[in-house]
Order: sequence, then structure tokens, then C-alpha cells
Amino acid sequence: MRPVVIVGGGMAGLACARVLHRQNIPFLLFEASHQPGGRVATTVVDGYRLDAGFQVLHTAYPEARHALHYPSLHLQKFFPGAQVYRQGEWHLIADPWRKPLSAPATLAARIGGVRDRLLLAQLVADVCLGMVESLFVRVDLTTRQRLEEFGFSADFINGFFRPFYGAVFLDPELGTSRRMFDFMFRMFAQGDVTIPAKGMSMIPLQLRLALPRHSLVFDTPVELIHPDQVKLADGRVVGARAVVAAMDGDQASTMLGLPPVRFRATTTLYFTTATPPLGRPIIALDGDGTGPVNHLAVPSLISGEYAPAGRHLVACNCVGQAALVPDGPIADSVMEQMTRWFGGQVADWKLLRIIRIRHALPAQPPGWLEPVDRPTKLASGVFIAGDYRSTSSIDGALRSGRLAAEAVLAWDGRGRLTRPRPER
Ligand SMILES: Cc1cc2nc3c(=O)[nH]c(=O)nc-3n(C[C@H](O)[C@H](O)[C@H](O)COP(=O)(O)OP(=O)(O)OC[C@H]3O[C@@H](n4cnc5c(N)ncnc54)[C@H](O)[C@@H]3O)c2cc1C
Repeated sequence: MRPVVIVGGGMAGLACARVLHRQNIPFLLFEASHQPGGRVATTVVDGYRLDAGFQVLHTAYPEARHALHYPSLHLQKFFPGAQVYRQGEWHLIADPWRKPLSAPATLAARIGGVRDRLLLAQLVADVCLGMVESLFVRVDLTTRQRLEEFGFSADFINGFFRPFYGAVFLDPELGTSRRMFDFMFRMFAQGDVTIPAKGMSMIPLQLRLALPRHSLVFDTPVELIHPDQVKLADGRVVGARAVVAAMDGDQASTMLGLPPVRFRATTTLYFTTATPPLGRPIIALDGDGTGPVNHLAVPSLISGEYAPAGRHLVACNCVGQAALVPDGPIADSVMEQMTRWFGGQVADWKLLRIIRIRHALPAQPPGWLEPVDRPTKLASGVFIAGDYRSTSSIDGALRSGRLAAEAVLAWDGRGRLTRPRPER
């Protein structure tokens, strides 16, 4: 029996392979690079674990909860909230339900007013009631319009939501669809923000280890896709029962003639230091909006495995236009900004690596998630998966991969063998 060929071994391709394998459908997955995971990757440099840009896994992700085995990932939690640098001072905005002792500090933070705190509680109720699917049929707006319409003050939107969701969507303008905002706000409210103890690459590694080794072919780009075969870049032709195109949106539009996908960029500057600049495992935000760093984390405070003993790793993340500034100038202006934030200790920081990801996240303006799941069948025998087909996230990529596999099974006459499980 000819195999189903999966092109691309990111989260979408791996999720597709997982479903096919569970149904005993032979498959071959061709991945252009030397490893699985695509954009979810970790490189070890001098004993430091550098994720390919700052990324996190939300434990409430509905698809990930089923596709991944969380205990084996040894997920380490962030403090539920953020520390915001604004007008020369630090302010804490914490989740009052999970960190009640931080409620006085959150109330005292000079960002927005008491009404904004009350609205936060109302927003939690608004996005958490009902099935998650209901969020994707609401009237679409930009995130900024959504927040203004809900009644938040401009001060709170600019001082807190802008850098916080600028980090989540890599979109400091808050032009992302409110449907995606509502979904992510629910994820923050219903679960933890985590990273695996040994880096984000543990997530694709877990999926890969559950698949037969001989079905995964690395360092092998696919050049052409047909319904019954693919042509590899080295000239070989491989027959296929069906093909699932699980490349990133950019490759898919080039190879399959799909409309182009607009991406958001991010640049992470990794520094090493003996003294962590933050006192707890929290994300720090630029509440002034001056940049270039929008958000900062110290992954080694979340998991000690991210740095050698006695050392710390600092991830300074730039989004929007700041992500496009060349290496020399960006490193200088990051150091200036960090000195304003943390004082003289920054002189001891050593720049370890600058990681640039131009095609980090597909932009999701209003209308993009209409519908939330785009069709998985492109033509007879050709199926399609990727984060640009669903919510732009690890969860969306996993979901689209599973849906593509189910579409293959249905098309193949095997019926819908694996049904989407209801949210727990
Ligand atoms: C810096 C950054 C921060 C992020 N933060 C978060 C976050 O905090 N939380 C979250 O949920 N998501 C986050 N994301 C998004 C998340 O990582 C992606 O949505 C998801 O990993 C996309 O998976 P994918 O399989 O759709 O695509 P990809 O990961 O792009 O996988 C596509 C794969 O196809 C391969 N490929 C391409 N062309 C070919 C070809 N011709 N032949 C063979 N193989 C090919 C590529 O090498 C790649 O491995 C972030 C992404 C980045 C980059």
C-alpha cells in the first residue's frame, strides 16, 4: 500500500502523522531541515538552551491537552501576571484569583484605574463562559477596538494590553482579530503559561518519539506536490496515496499557489549573566512603548536547565519595526533600554546570540479566522495543514494537522475514525 506523504515536520505535520499512525495508516513524512518541530526549536549554545524566539505553551490549549502528554514534558510555570516598566517605575499586574497576596500591589499599580481591574474580572467571565468555539463566531474587530468597546481606559490598554498582547501576537498595534484575543485571554484565565524544563523542542520531540523512525525522513525538501506523488529536491519521485502539505504558509503559497500569508517578525537577543534581573519567574513588559524590547523573560528562573549552574539566561524580545533593526544598532539600543530598566548590573551582561525570525507568526487581522478552521482538502488527494489554516499557535498547528489527517481518512473511505474530543 502506498503511504500518505506528509510534507513538513512542524507541529502540524507531526500532529497529522500522529493520527495516521494511530489508525495504522502507513505514512512518510519529509522534512526539509535536520530535525522535527519547525518553528518550535531549541539550540544549545555553551550550555544555555536558546528557544527559537521566546515561546510558551498554554496548558489550557484544547488541542494540545489531547495531543501532548504534559507530565513527560516537565512543564515549568510562569508567575501568572506581568511586571511592567512605566515612567521610571516597576508595576505588578497579577492574576488576583491565583495570586491573591499580590492583589494590593496590582491595585496600586499606576496603570489604568480601579475600573480597569473590575473590567478584567468581567472580561474573564465574558470569554470563559460557554464552549471555546463560540468565541470564533463573535463579531470581529481588532483587539484594540475590542478592548475600547469593553470600556478599558486608554492608559490601561497602552500600558498593559499593548505590550502584553504585543508579545503574544508579535503585534504591538493590537490589530489582531478580537477572536484570537478572546481565545488567548481564555487560555491565560484557564491554565498556566509554561515551558518544558529542557526547552520548547521537547514538545515536537515527544511527538516524534511516538512515531516509527523509518517513516520520518529529515534533510529532504520536497520540490513538487501532485495528488499521487511528490518530487524531492534530489530528483527522486515518491508515490503517494494522498499528500498532506504541512509546510509553513510561505512555502505553501509558493508551492501550491495559495494566497500569500503575511507574517509578523520577532528578534530575540539572548544575554547571559550571573545575576538575574528579575526576582521571580515572570514576564517583564515595556509599558512606555519606547522599545526596542517589548517583553523580557529570564527562562533560567523558570527552569534551571536553561543555563549552566550559577548562570542565567535573559531573553530580550523585540517586535514590530524594532524586530527589523540590524544587529549592531539593536544590540546598542537594547543595552541602553535595559540599563534604564535594571541599572548598572547590565554592564555585566554578555550577548550570546541574536535570533531573528522574520516569518514567526501569520498575521491574523479581523476576518482571518472566518472560519476558524480553513478547508483541509485542496484537491482530490491533496490536503493541507499548518498554523495559518487555524489559530496561529502551537495549538492551531496541532489542530490543523489532526483535521487534515481526519480528512484523509474520510476521503480514503475510512470514515471519520477519530472524532474531535469535546473540551474537558
Ligand atoms: C518566535 C515565535 C514565538 C511564538 N510564540 C508562540 C507561543 O508563545 N505560543 C504558541 O502557541 N505559538 C507560538 N508561536 C507559533 C508556533 O510556533 C507556530 O504557530 C507553530 O509552531 C507552527 O507550526 P506549523 O507546523 O504550522 O509550521 P512550521 O513550524 O513552520 O513547520 C513547517 C515545516 O515544514 C518544513 N518545510 C517547509 N517547506 C518544506 C518542503 N518543501 N519540504 C519539506 N519540508 C518543508 C519546514 O522546515 C518546517 O519544519 C511562535 C512562533 C515563533 C516563531
